[in-house]
Amino acid sequence: MDDNSRSETERGLSRILVTMTLLLLLALAVPAAPTTMPSAIPIPSAARPSAHFDEQAATDAYLAEIPPAARARSDAYFEGGYWLQLWDFLYGALIAVILLNLRWSAAMRNLAERLTPLGPMRTAIYWIQYLLVVALLGFPLGVYEGYFREHQYGLATQTFGPWMFDQMKGLLLNLIFGAILTAVLFGIVRKLPRTWWIWGAIVTLAFLIFAILIGPVFILPLFNKVTRLNDPVVTEPILRMARANGIPANDIYEVDASRQTTRMSANVSGFGNTMRITLNDNLLHRGSLEEIQAVMGHEMGHYVLNHVYKSMLFFLVLIVVWFAAMRWSLEWALRHWGGRWQIRGIGDTAILPLVFLVTSLFFFIVTPIFNTYVRTQEHEADMFGINASRQPDGFAEAAIHLAEYRKMNPGPIEEFIFFDHPSGRNRILDAMRWKKENLALFAGQ
Ligand SMILES: [Zn+2]
Repeated sequence: MDDNSRSETERGLSRILVTMTLLLLLALAVPAAPTTMPSAIPIPSAARPSAHFDEQAATDAYLAEIPPAARARSDAYFEGGYWLQLWDFLYGALIAVILLNLRWSAAMRNLAERLTPLGPMRTAIYWIQYLLVVALLGFPLGVYEGYFREHQYGLATQTFGPWMFDQMKGLLLNLIFGAILTAVLFGIVRKLPRTWWIWGAIVTLAFLIFAILIGPVFILPLFNKVTRLNDPVVTEPILRMARANGIPANDIYEVDASRQTTRMSANVSGFGNTMRITLNDNLLHRGSLEEIQAVMGHEMGHYVLNHVYKSMLFFLVLIVVWFAAMRWSLEWALRHWGGRWQIRGIGDTAILPLVFLVTSLFFFIVTPIFNTYVRTQEHEADMFGINASRQPDGFAEAAIHLAEYRKMNPGPIEEFIFFDHPSGRNRILDAMRWKKENLALFAGQ
């Protein structure tokens, strides 16, 4: 690292530290807003069984239970998220351009080379510098998005200290696992300069599968407490539904998501021996039993329909295309600006900001394809869940509760581009259509 770039680095860092201190002071002054969606959602009269049951009218009646202020707020939150995707991309691109053009990236590589003669260690040391600089530069947008904005919309429950502690744990995981992955990938690029993009894609997928495998058992407990759910009133209908659908589950897990958020949710995570169904305590405390069963039916749908395995296949295709695009664009960019950035080739770790720039551009462009793939699976799980639980009203309640953080009634193009789940309105309509064809089940309502 030459002296000129070192002092530039220091000036940049001191400016960032001042910004961080200001944000910290602001953080202490943010009041937490309460959620405005009702916890109990009664079945509206238009959704009760009758000779003239109409699924559209029943759906509209459910939507009418959402207080206008709550809907305005979740619309604003979700639509703001569209712009944030753009700002995230542009902000990240700006950071990459700064690192390359000011040759901070080359300077970090030079420092790593002075510290050790070992290739993989050099890559790991570069990674640590790179990640810390990017975390500092990205902090203003990250803290707005992850902390202030979440509080502003009443979705966050953490004060700044615990939130920051969680961020630090995430950063540490990223430092360790990222260092391993980049050392392996750069090793492949240097050993196999012609076919690296194929082998790199396969290793990246293997790493992703490893992360999915260890996630629920080793990563999640670092942030939240995971316990076996013991209340038989809740678990018995769920376990009956699991057995009826051939799911070998003896336990349902509960996670204390209320530590961080007011969002209700549940998920299927892991695969093979670590695959499990977890519901969060917000759902458990605020949702009705019917709602919990409907949500669990949905999660079992992901399980029975093998969505984890199908997604791995989809990711394989996506990752190969990503690496092919990367190979082409890295070569092109190096031909034009490699000398100016002092990057020696694709096997040079100093290229990493460019790799992240190309990657974020790629995933920004494929967002609608990715969302549509996930949304299609979510719709499959929805229909499985309604059939398995036979709780269309519980399902409608869940759709309303999820509208605390998702826009309820988007246009079709908006849903296609931005939604990774069917919109709340479409989910209620699915449930009410199902109910219409099975009205005999609800004679007592
Ligand atoms: Zn789902």
